[in-house]
Amino acid sequence: MEIAEIHIYQHDLPVKNGPYTMANAKVYSLDTTLIKIITKSGQIGWGETCPVGPTYAEAHAKGARAALEEMAPGLIGCSIEPKAIHSKMNSLLNGHNYAKAAVDIAAHDALGKILGVSVSTLLGGSLRNKVPSYYATGVGSPEDVVKVVKEKILEGYPRVQIKVGGRPVEIDIEVIKKVWEHIRSKEIKMAVDANRGWTTENAIRVSRECVDIPFVMEQPCDTIEDLQEIKPHVSHLIYMDENSTSLKIVHSAVNRGIVDGFGMKVTRIGGLENMKTFRDICEASNLPHTCDDSWGGDIIASACTHIASTVKDSLLEGAWLAAPYIEGNYDIDNGINIINGHISVPEKPGLGIEIDETIFGPPIFSF
Ligand SMILES: [Mg+2]
Repeated sequence: MEIAEIHIYQHDLPVKNGPYTMANAKVYSLDTTLIKIITKSGQIGWGETCPVGPTYAEAHAKGARAALEEMAPGLIGCSIEPKAIHSKMNSLLNGHNYAKAAVDIAAHDALGKILGVSVSTLLGGSLRNKVPSYYATGVGSPEDVVKVVKEKILEGYPRVQIKVGGRPVEIDIEVIKKVWEHIRSKEIKMAVDANRGWTTENAIRVSRECVDIPFVMEQPCDTIEDLQEIKPHVSHLIYMDENSTSLKIVHSAVNRGIVDGFGMKVTRIGGLENMKTFRDICEASNLPHTCDDSWGGDIIASACTHIASTVKDSLLEGAWLAAPYIEGNYDIDNGINIINGHISVPEKPGLGIEIDETIFGPPIFSF
């Protein structure tokens, strides 16, 4: 089960009807990085990492490739078992979870194929065949956001996430109230995600002016200290997303009672091995969470779906995929797509997808 070869690819994912707008970023196209590992027995595993531009988080596409180039020579000969490969990666490079996650996903894919089981089985076992997704609107006018929400509810999404921030907070409040008017009679969950874009004053004001509207406030402000500051003054549940950069931070935030749940990204936390631990910390503390990634194609989408399939019902807030926002699939016949607001869990061994690597062109470097 040792790695014999590593190949790194770069690929652009165009955003449909772009740009996609968040409080701190406009995204026209995504620069994704793919890794193919080949074991000594000839088994192939695919991994991916796709930061959503350079300002969403402390991650950027060129940084991912530089980190992979730094680690790759030292990973040749390493076992693909998750504990072994993380130990090796940590001995080769400090930090850079988002790059290590690509290797972790590839290792899970190859290991599942060798053992003849799906990645969800490696993660403890799937609890469902279909995972609920949620639709994230871009930052938009009240009319535009309500239009998108209406469409997505009709498509079958059980949860909507409204992007806010980066503009006068009065508009954000108007958007929340308009969306609530539309969903209040329906069993639709709402999250309001400022992507770090509100001041603490803004977050407290929104909560006070929308006190009767039930929604989750996702990463309203920039830092953990900001979240701690607003916590006693808001009546809404606070989920931490961008600040959840390591298991240690997650563990600390849970212990200190700063958050009520998480928006969690597979690559930010360092891959599926760390995501499994994160899931179990949340289960032990009865805290709900999503299983997402920032963006990416079928490989990321499959990884998110597999881990989400293992989260207990009462704690699963859904899996967000980039699929509705980007063109095309890496697996032409059985790519990961959202149908009626839900994602089918792949059943074949490993990630359960067949990658058409001709889409990516030749590798940019190989070891
Ligand atoms: Mg978020």
